Amino acid sequence: MLGSFLRKSAVLALMRLTGRDFRRELRTIESIMRGDMLLEDFVRESLRSLLEYAEKKVPHYTRLLRNFEDPLTHFDEIPVLKRSFVQAHLDDLTSTDMERMRASTGTTGGSTARPIRFFRDVRSYRWSKATEVFYYSWFLGIDLLKARKMIIWGSAAELLGGISPLSKMTHFLDGAVYFNAYLIDQRLIERVLRKLEDYRPDILRGLPHFLAAVAEYALRRGIEVFRPKAVISTGETLNKWKREMIEEAFGRVYNFYGAREAPSIAGECSDGSLHVFSFNNLIEILDDSGGKAPDGALGNVVVTPLHNYVMPLIRYEIGDMARAVEGRCSCGSFLPRMGSIEGRATEFVVRRDGSLLGGEFFEGVFRVEEWVREFQVIQEDLSTLRIFIAPRGGTRVSLSVPEGKIREVLGDVIIRWELVDSVPKPASGKFMYVISKVRSGLAV
Ligand SMILES: [Zn+2]
Repeated sequence: MLGSFLRKSAVLALMRLTGRDFRRELRTIESIMRGDMLLEDFVRESLRSLLEYAEKKVPHYTRLLRNFEDPLTHFDEIPVLKRSFVQAHLDDLTSTDMERMRASTGTTGGSTARPIRFFRDVRSYRWSKATEVFYYSWFLGIDLLKARKMIIWGSAAELLGGISPLSKMTHFLDGAVYFNAYLIDQRLIERVLRKLEDYRPDILRGLPHFLAAVAEYALRRGIEVFRPKAVISTGETLNKWKREMIEEAFGRVYNFYGAREAPSIAGECSDGSLHVFSFNNLIEILDDSGGKAPDGALGNVVVTPLHNYVMPLIRYEIGDMARAVEGRCSCGSFLPRMGSIEGRATEFVVRRDGSLLGGEFFEGVFRVEEWVREFQVIQEDLSTLRIFIAPRGGTRVSLSVPEGKIREVLGDVIIRWELVDSVPKPASGKFMYVISKVRSGLAV
């Protein structure tokens, strides 16, 4: 592995070659943070140029925005963009200049909604990378480019096809050891624990369900694990029990929130608030009627990536829910805050009276059942649950206690139990424990 100084130089050289040198964007962020430039002014100007560009070059917005005399002033009247619309109108949402923009394509994760295709340009890449580098440096005191990283992710494609040579090269230059945790078993956990001990990374980053699995494994066996400077949970909801488990084994964990179509949205500070990097993505938390959710209320996360011109997503409903949080954080940062992500919208189960039950309820039910290795709950309709369970080898299956607890909360529902060797995983590897096919208003 390269020394930290060489690593940083090599990464920056590679970035320059590919048009991804993000240092100018990083300087802009730093001048906002130092107060040389007002955050609100920067956001408004970025939004203004994005809207002007979209109206000129993106067919959907050419039609939509000409109904507004001044889209910037009436920003909160622009209709929210739904995922299903993006999926169906890809051509209409991309810039007519796309050929020239060095765009790359991606698909989103998620298991219920069909993944959507999207495009990102290098400018958006630079801003997201600069935001990430800023977060590690200002909030965690770590130079991301010099740091040794261990990254644990889940990708079905890489499991089948192996990691591409370019990805391998980037991981190497970046000082990142990469594990694909699409399938988690004891062998993988032990490999991860050994590598932690050998490589002693500054940063351990991964999906919380996997970090929690490694933590639980180590704690149960009394294995003392290496504690990195920062443990970062990303990619799915970090709930209370996962946080406690991870922190007991590895020390303080920080939540970093982003999505493939809108990377680097928010990061946790030492006082436990999720700060929104609004110079990169503008975030709104909206209630079911499309208005601004009041302080403390749960609402839909609506995001406007400010720097992706090849496929502008303006007021895009990303499919996550969070509580609105007003007021300044005790850590002193003036960056706005949002509540922690309470689960993908589909992780709620809809009760007969229309209220929503957080998916974490089921985690509570099954975590105390020693015989359950993995589970997944699918709400087919208001009165039917399909529950997949992969039992631990050599244990006795006992359904009556969990069934009792579920009926206590959900009433007289039909429960179809399906015992399987392993629970079906989505192609992206982003696993959801609880999926509801029932749509409802936000009754919380
Ligand atoms: Zn804070």
